[in-house]
Amino acid sequence: MARHGGRGWYGRVIAAAVGVTAMAAVTSVWTAQAGPVDGAKPEAGASARPSAAPARVSVDIAHASDHGARGVNITIDDGPDPDWTPQVLEVLRENDVKATFCMVGTQAKAHPDLVKAVVADGHRLCDHTVSHDTTMDKKPDSYQSQQILDAERMITEASGGVRPVYYRAPGGAFTPYSRDLAASRGMRPLGWNVDTKDFEQPGAAAIVSTVQSEVSNGPTILFHDAGGDRSQTVAALREVLPWLRQQGYSFGFPVI
Ligand SMILES: [Zn+2]
Repeated sequence: MARHGGRGWYGRVIAAAVGVTAMAAVTSVWTAQAGPVDGAKPEAGASARPSAAPARVSVDIAHASDHGARGVNITIDDGPDPDWTPQVLEVLRENDVKATFCMVGTQAKAHPDLVKAVVADGHRLCDHTVSHDTTMDKKPDSYQSQQILDAERMITEASGGVRPVYYRAPGGAFTPYSRDLAASRGMRPLGWNVDTKDFEQPGAAAIVSTVQSEVSNGPTILFHDAGGDRSQTVAALREVLPWLRQQGYSFGFPVI
């Protein structure tokens, strides 16, 4: 069918990602517990959490879904936000969808209850830097390192010891250095295929339409739960998540 006619990307992406399976990465994390603690303070009883030295993952920017060619990855950026994150979580829960939340470090530090709520619902965490500088690819390595590692620490502390497993550069401002650093911390660089441009507030119908017309570009779809009034995003998710399922897609996570 034409619906999947544009998915030639999939073969290319999966070829790049095939060396690292999700299970292999998880196994490596769980066997890396003897390493030095990275400053996170896991809660009592959470010693099995992967807060110690994480296993390196691929430096390649992930787009593929662990649900394969029929999978889509819902990604939610720039929060958590006390107004919008709970509403997004509710819609995801209503639709039995697990998503990936790319959090800004200062937001995570300010709202640890929301970070814990995201984790409790079975979603994954992604490091979206401390201050969301979309020009960080023009900045020194030391600045990039501070932005990535401080946010990693803020998110992990806010979650109670659950680490982010992806790194998404603000505005896609990746560098070879930042990808390598993130990968060395067990955070897979994460891209996207469909930009809903929900932050421009084009209306819920336009956000839905963008997903419907561009999902053939690839599986990773970008939404936001902070940075302004996100009521259109919430309304669009409520409409488009059932639509995606009706089209035969299932909801997964980006490959690690
Ligand atoms: Zn962002």
